[in-house]
Amino acid sequence: MTRKDRTEGIYSRKEVLDESERRQYYLIQLKDLLTYAYRYSEDVKKRFDRAQFQPEKFKSLSDLKHIPILKKKELIFLQSMGPRLGGLLTKDLGELRRIFLSPGPIFDPEDRSDDYWGWTEGFYAAGYRTGDVAQITLNYHLIPAGLMFEEPLKNLGCAVIPAGPGNTASQLDIMQKLRVTGYVGSPSYLMHLAQKAEEMGLNLRKDLFMEVAFVTGEKFSEKMRNQIEKKFDLIMRQGYGTADVGCIGYECYHKTGLHIANRCFVEICHPDTGIPLKDGEVGEIVVTAFNKTYPLIRLATGDLSYIDHSPCPCGRSTPRLGNIVGRVDTTARIMGMFVYPHQVEQVMSRFEEIKRWQIEVTNPEGIDEMTLYVEATNFRREDELLHTFRERIKLRPTLDVLAPGTLPPQIRPIEDKRQWD
Ligand SMILES: [Zn+2]
Repeated sequence: MTRKDRTEGIYSRKEVLDESERRQYYLIQLKDLLTYAYRYSEDVKKRFDRAQFQPEKFKSLSDLKHIPILKKKELIFLQSMGPRLGGLLTKDLGELRRIFLSPGPIFDPEDRSDDYWGWTEGFYAAGYRTGDVAQITLNYHLIPAGLMFEEPLKNLGCAVIPAGPGNTASQLDIMQKLRVTGYVGSPSYLMHLAQKAEEMGLNLRKDLFMEVAFVTGEKFSEKMRNQIEKKFDLIMRQGYGTADVGCIGYECYHKTGLHIANRCFVEICHPDTGIPLKDGEVGEIVVTAFNKTYPLIRLATGDLSYIDHSPCPCGRSTPRLGNIVGRVDTTARIMGMFVYPHQVEQVMSRFEEIKRWQIEVTNPEGIDEMTLYVEATNFRREDELLHTFRERIKLRPTLDVLAPGTLPPQIRPIEDKRQWD
């Protein structure tokens, strides 16, 4: 079977606008969004009024800074403030296609428009082409991860196997029997699949047919990428986004950072003041997706990165985000899921025997591992604790029960010891 060329081409003309066309494009999209959102979203109106910002005042891109940033964490509270997700939505819930629930808890609405989450150009850039058979190994239950990636694949003319997470042996069996060419999921799970397949005596290049992998939700090292690409003989590229807004950026063949998606405007801001920083400076990613249904204007993602305007050999003219260099606060993204200390605290409060706790995250071999340390005497409800933890946080830690006084006096709720390169 001849292999497809996955290294060239673009999906949309918007990817190659020149500088002045791009500025004009952003201006029109933003002006339109701000005007609409101010009119139809109660929350946006309140927020703009409080900041004495009127959409008519929006004349240049730098005027955006007059709108206060919206921290992702605020969504938890705002959404509980009344109908239409606390006035954040411009439509009634019944007019949507789906409503998801992410940890936080935060509701993630999806309307009925084509490519709502905006990943199609990113999948093309990553190397997906018409005729691919893609296996999606992300969760389809309540969170948007799995379903979010169905639409770009449909748009590109690919078939999808909605495998969901887990069942590694059957995942590999499907990959073999259906000659799956594309993987969608976390990088660590792809590595796990490779390890399992090798243990089973499979030859990854001969017995499997993988040519492209779209990975997301986790950081990984270039060493790990190289290993995976070599093992399977595939191209692995990543996408960056959130469950609130969908696609924010994606890599092209040349791995020069994350091309910012044409569906949003991205600023890098000082995490405390919300003031935009200069190109190249590290700050918080603040995103405004051109989404009139759920206008999260200037959403601060909590992720840290910087902007790079240098040209890319692929020909796309979009600015790029450098790698995601870290998180603003203590919230950690573990195995692709956000873990909030206050949510862990809620779980722990059901177990009065537990005096103190701490989560430690490591990533041996590039795969996230989470250990939950609890201090307790004669603790007997280990299964119940793990069950509750999994139910609320959606992750399964290794539990380590310690005698009271074992943990150091001053501890961070989530100790992130992961290393990348
Ligand atoms: Zn590029």
